[in-house]
Amino acid sequence: MTATTPNWLELEQKYDSGVYNKHQVVMVKGKNATVWDSEGNEYIDCVGGYGVANIGHCNEDVVEAIKQQAETLLVMPQTLPNDKRAEFLEELVSVLPEGMNRIFLCSTGTEAMEAAKKFAITATNGRTKFIAMKRGFSGRTLGALAFTWEPKYREPFKGVMDQNVEFITYGDIEALKAAIDENTAAVIMEPVQGEGGVRPGAVEFIQAARQLTKEKGALLILDEIQTGFCRTGKMFACEHSGVVPDGMTLAKAMAGGVPIGAFAMNAEVADRMPKGGHGTTFGGNPLAMAAGVAAIRFMKKNQLWKQAEEKGNYFMQKLREIGSPKIREVRGLGLMIGVELKEKSAPYITALEHEHHVLTLQATPLVVRFLPPLTISYEQIDQAVAAFKTVLET
Ligand code: PLP
Repeated sequence: MTATTPNWLELEQKYDSGVYNKHQVVMVKGKNATVWDSEGNEYIDCVGGYGVANIGHCNEDVVEAIKQQAETLLVMPQTLPNDKRAEFLEELVSVLPEGMNRIFLCSTGTEAMEAAKKFAITATNGRTKFIAMKRGFSGRTLGALAFTWEPKYREPFKGVMDQNVEFITYGDIEALKAAIDENTAAVIMEPVQGEGGVRPGAVEFIQAARQLTKEKGALLILDEIQTGFCRTGKMFACEHSGVVPDGMTLAKAMAGGVPIGAFAMNAEVADRMPKGGHGTTFGGNPLAMAAGVAAIRFMKKNQLWKQAEEKGNYFMQKLREIGSPKIREVRGLGLMIGVELKEKSAPYITALEHEHHVLTLQATPLVVRFLPPLTISYEQIDQAVAAFKTVLET
């Protein structure tokens, strides 16, 4: 930074709403799994934009698609069909489980959850009860927050939130049997809980949820916002259990870094929503659509799910080999990895960033979470693990 460079950190801290805990660094550039700060320092990025940068930062195919689209058409509402939107929808449906061929497009994950909630209500003739999971995370807008378990996120807003959401223990089939009834619109869960501590769901539980929702005429909605698009070693995490849900929420990695969200569903669900029953201005905008086409094609061309599986297994193996008495458990699926410590994880996350330039994130007070771009190199994985070993030893 030169003497004339503005103090970006100060400016951002001064004008930001204040809801975020800002790190004392200004990030200015990214490529694959590497990011650079304004001082020119290089970091290994195991945050990946909270699981957005699956195909790497500034993926060349996406950058090219954005450039071309920016010169062609930036905005076109969804009532007016658009070439890129049509292309994207076809591309997305080509990777979704069979039968999931109707899409509501929006711009974020939480918005996808809002859509899921409304579609579930109309698909079940106005049922009002939802079942969500303890430790589950579905977003922060009020409708989605109602499915988010963490009490500290809910507490300030509890007076205005839907109360008709029953939280059950993730994985408890008996609890699900007891909770589900004739007024249940949907059961909502992440196939792997992310924010809740990186907890892969038991295959039998997800399969039982499929069976029980069918029996009760309720929807099974899988939140694949974080797990989708190759993160867990499959294109979608539901493939691990062979379960095809009625609806799936998607966002994050779907457009290589451009804001995007979607609720994917089967025709039976889609057809029950009246015309005009839902909508959003930015959903399906041509820029996100062009980026999304390029991102999904890149995933397919490079069989990115395989990379996630192989690198994820390698990463977890190396983390286990650290053998530190401070580690309680290393768990995850693909490149969605959590290391649960026996003590608070925050000091280690800070030390990794400050002393080793490795970016990681927290999931619950005890867990260090790794969500790197799936294009991360084995060398970077080794470096990140070596850094983690060092901070655990000090
Ligand atoms: N659902 C899950 C599983 C998530 O991980 C997130 C974000 O972290 C959301 C929903 C909310 O998505 P967004 O932050 O794009 O609103």
